[in-house]
Amino acid sequence: MNQPVPADLRAAVQERRSLLEQLSLDLHTTPETRFEEHYAAEQLAGRLAAAGFEVSKGVADLPTAFTATHRGPVDGPTVAVLLEYDALPGIGHACGHNLIAAGGLTAAVAAAAVRPDHPGTLMVIGTPGEEGGGGKILMLERGVFDGVDAAVMFHPGDRSLMARHALAVCHLRLTFHGVAAHAAKMPWDGRSAAAGAQLFLTAVDSLRQFVPPTARVHGIIAHGGSAPNVVPDRAEVDLFIREATSAALDALVPRVLAAADGAALATGTTVETAETAPRYAERNDNLVMGRRIAAYTAGLGLELEPPSPANPAGSSDIGNVSIKLPAIHPYVQIGPRDTPSHSVPMREAARSPRAHTAATTMATAMAALVLDLLADPEFLAEVRAEFHASALCSTAGQESS
Ligand SMILES: [Zn+2]
Repeated sequence: MNQPVPADLRAAVQERRSLLEQLSLDLHTTPETRFEEHYAAEQLAGRLAAAGFEVSKGVADLPTAFTATHRGPVDGPTVAVLLEYDALPGIGHACGHNLIAAGGLTAAVAAAAVRPDHPGTLMVIGTPGEEGGGGKILMLERGVFDGVDAAVMFHPGDRSLMARHALAVCHLRLTFHGVAAHAAKMPWDGRSAAAGAQLFLTAVDSLRQFVPPTARVHGIIAHGGSAPNVVPDRAEVDLFIREATSAALDALVPRVLAAADGAALATGTTVETAETAPRYAERNDNLVMGRRIAAYTAGLGLELEPPSPANPAGSSDIGNVSIKLPAIHPYVQIGPRDTPSHSVPMREAARSPRAHTAATTMATAMAALVLDLLADPEFLAEVRAEFHASALCSTAGQESS
């Protein structure tokens, strides 16, 4: 199905294409990692204030989080456009969050400019720390999403998708403590924390065959010692444990922790475990909104593929939002299919003319969707009905999904 975006809205986004591109490139050349996105937050909040939005910075006790609201003359729903703007450590904007920020902002600014008298509240929520910080989860817990009726965003990627499953994830840091000793003169006095870490990762490999095919357990040795001639007294493993649902994740985490205890026991070390972010839930994409945005993009010449279990899944903190209120997270292709996310080719794609054309199309469709949600109570009722039905389904069917 194909639905035309109103011509004035389409023109308003086109007029702002250079703003979108400049902002996107500016963020791309100034990558900031989770919760350090001071420059990005400043730029985005500043532009929203200049466009007549009422801005609150540092919301939810997060210095780089913000909200910006545009209230219409009559009461109505609250619809939020979510922005992400954090980069990855070491590699920069290899997840393309510069496009999420620039595209989302352009959608909101264009929608408010064309329909200043929209009912209800058009909100932009600046959500920092998506990459391993769970910024949206903290903001959800701290009340920023209270009263929000629906939340929309898009994500760049290697294909264009109306919706895609995302895995629940637990971010773990395991610190093994041993006893330092000279590695040649008195190794028997030492207990190697690196040996504990090594045996733990081997134990995870042994466990791997006996977990569901939906599980993913992967990590790095973040610290393995300081010098080869010193038995390491500290080693750190950073590990992600992922599963199709939060319930399945909750069942898997204790098995991985037991492997760590076993490795520590075997090597005479001890292990401390800490979750470095709140657990991300699986995503519950709202398909009523998904079909509407796909109809708008189709009208603009961009087909979003319908959901398919064949598409590989990652994780995102919008999962937790999507089980509390209707939300969407469609993908738009910005580079060749199968370009891996978090790679150098994806980082380069995220600054390309193709990416800016894709983000402009998504901004246009998203602006139209947001105005529908604000002004068409029947459509919002349909969105809500699907949300309530799917929320029940996901609770009832967690074991089988
Ligand atoms: Zn991302």
